[in-house]
Amino acid sequence: GFKCGIVGLPNVGKSTLFNALTKTAAAQAANYPFCTIEPNVGDVAVPEPRLKTLAEIAGSKEILPARMQFVDIAGLVKGASKGEGLGNQFLANIREVDAVVYVLRCFDDDDVTHVANKIDPIADFETVETELMLADLESLEKRRVNLEKKAKGQDKEAKALIVLVDKALEELREGHPARNAEVADDDKKAWAGLQLLTSKPVLFVANVDEGSAASGNDYSKHVEECAKKEGAAAVVISAKIESELAQLSDEEQAEYLETIGLSEPGLNRLISTGFDLLGLQTYFTAGPKEARAWTVKRGATAPQAAGVIHTDFEKGFIRAETIAFDDYVALKGEQGAKEAGKMRLEGKEYIVKDGDVMHFRFNT
Ligand code: GDP
Repeated sequence: GFKCGIVGLPNVGKSTLFNALTKTAAAQAANYPFCTIEPNVGDVAVPEPRLKTLAEIAGSKEILPARMQFVDIAGLVKGASKGEGLGNQFLANIREVDAVVYVLRCFDDDDVTHVANKIDPIADFETVETELMLADLESLEKRRVNLEKKAKGQDKEAKALIVLVDKALEELREGHPARNAEVADDDKKAWAGLQLLTSKPVLFVANVDEGSAASGNDYSKHVEECAKKEGAAAVVISAKIESELAQLSDEEQAEYLETIGLSEPGLNRLISTGFDLLGLQTYFTAGPKEARAWTVKRGATAPQAAGVIHTDFEKGFIRAETIAFDDYVALKGEQGAKEAGKMRLEGKEYIVKDGDVMHFRFNT
């Protein structure tokens, strides 16, 4: 599965946000209950309004949304890269995620201490990112020594990797995250293999006070500007409100949202933004048993998409009967789409589009 790591300084609202996320997930998919994989890993449903429409047309008994994981990564303090706080243990947790969500405190509250005694979300972001950059710098410098030895032995792979390591080091030594480096498509895999903390895509969560959930505040405006500069996305959320929303029924939620001027829970925006950030898109399968959303990387081929369901589907792939979501709806389902000539037979080279309703034919 795809994972987003929630990071930030202590007392910025990470746990509050994480708990809201996991509660909401349970509510969204009663037949796929929220499961605690580890205490700090939450498996959440990706909000997908098209699924309900599909299920109605196909007469599906069950609705199964796509899933995504959030990891609450506690223990980051200034000095973490030097082993302060939970130090290295916490840094190892970040290595395993596909994207990093920076939770930034954008609320005043004298009862909640701030580690630096000042509310300044941009300074907080810099503190955290500096620790991640220092950790990357240190691990790359160590790595380079080993690669250097191998490269002397004419190891071609080691030589190629040194070029990438140097690319990252150049950014880091200038005080920039590794994600700023330009990496050729052919090198992307090896680059990801370096498992750098600062090469992952980032998302900012501006955690605002309850009164600013809809409008944002001055702090969150700064966060949005900072995100723009970093080429990152920003989501304004009040974790407090989200944790209250997560405990309400759908009806009560709708009422509460209206009174505070929101059209949907902030968590939905967070999950969807995270989904986009990971370069993911959705395709569907629909039948009397279930309507289900599946997740593939943008640019995935039909056999790769089939492989998400089962590796045998990919290995024995013959073709994919494919209907665009809009056609499926307009023509009231598979039969109608077929009759109107809107069901396409797609082969191995087909690049899956967001919203495709697919049925795979394969050899066993
Ligand atoms: P973490 O250390 O980053 O996981 O932070 P927590 O989620 O434990 O939150 C620390 C404290 O801040 C708790 O007492 C929360 O209730 C409080 N808190 C979190 N979000 C908000 C918010 O939006 N407004 C206010 N006033 N307090 C909040």
